Amino acid sequence: MPTVLFAADPALRDAYLPHLAEAFAEAGVAARLVCTADPAEVDYIVFSPGGTIEDFSPFCRARAVLNLWAGVENIVGNPTLTQTLCRMVDPAMTESMVEWVAAHVLRHHLGTDEHVLHQDGIWRHDATRMPKLARERPITILGFGELGQACARALIALNFPVTGWSRRPASLPGARCLAGPEGLDEALRGAEGVVLLLPKTPQTENVLDARRLALLARGAFVINPGRGALIDDAALLAALDSGQVGHATLDVFRQEPLPPGHPFWAHPKVTVTPHIAAFTRPATAARVIAENVRRGEAGEPLLHVVDRRAGY
Ligand code: NAP
Repeated sequence: MPTVLFAADPALRDAYLPHLAEAFAEAGVAARLVCTADPAEVDYIVFSPGGTIEDFSPFCRARAVLNLWAGVENIVGNPTLTQTLCRMVDPAMTESMVEWVAAHVLRHHLGTDEHVLHQDGIWRHDATRMPKLARERPITILGFGELGQACARALIALNFPVTGWSRRPASLPGARCLAGPEGLDEALRGAEGVVLLLPKTPQTENVLDARRLALLARGAFVINPGRGALIDDAALLAALDSGQVGHATLDVFRQEPLPPGHPFWAHPKVTVTPHIAAFTRPATAARVIAENVRRGEAGEPLLHVVDRRAGY
């Protein structure tokens, strides 16, 4: 019977342990699910940032570390990690990211704030100032993986012209797909909205810098639920001040929590949300973990294995 060590953030134990037990039973996996164990007897490690392991080397028998988060930048470079690392692809997290991205794209697209924030007795009906239609507002999604493509499908269904940018060539019906460093400028040129859904790696850091922000259509919006390091903060603030960027909705930051004195908090053209775009949901994530343990025990390839060299 494999031993599965729950070594994720202890604050998550109550939320996850009952779902994991249920998911193992559903998957027909007889596993010993524990929160402490002799490292030499552990077969699988469930992990998250804030977890209870820093040195993975004593876990000599462990076949895999199963991360509860989609992003792996906090663990992928750990030199003691020799086990296979799997990231989380949780269908419910994907659903919630699609909802969050669609909501913020539509907010900026429709200019919703103008009416929501001005309940002041003035009837601002102006038939000459109608918003563009979605099909007139090109949106670019940087990072065209699980989350980027799911968001693209929703935006395409709303008629937005969508461009997706990835490391390797991709294809998605209804989207213009570009790849690699050579495709990036083209992906950004003239975009009226950019959504960042890239992982944080040395190659993606500052992908949106001053030069690339200047390629966007004037007044474009930037939505970042990916990682804070994807954007050059100073360049973004300058672009907001000059009007090159109309608004930035930021869910992730180089330093989290975002320090109270950070200029993003007070900037009138920045919306800060506290890394809440999409949570891993215990019930569905537990099934992904159980399926990977089942596969490991059956000698089948694991799902969502991280490419350590690519960093995600
Ligand atoms: P994924 O499936 O691995 O997709 C990542 C995408 O980024 C892929 O299309 C990949 O290209 C592309 N990419 C990576 N490096 C690149 C590079 N150097 N140049 C161009 N494209 C590159 O990951 P995911 O599940 O969609 O998640 C994406 C990120 O979202 C996570 O890493 C995490 O940082 C963030 N996230 C945030 C929240 C939140 O609540 N804010 C929640 C979940 C996830 P290929 O297709 O060629 O591999």
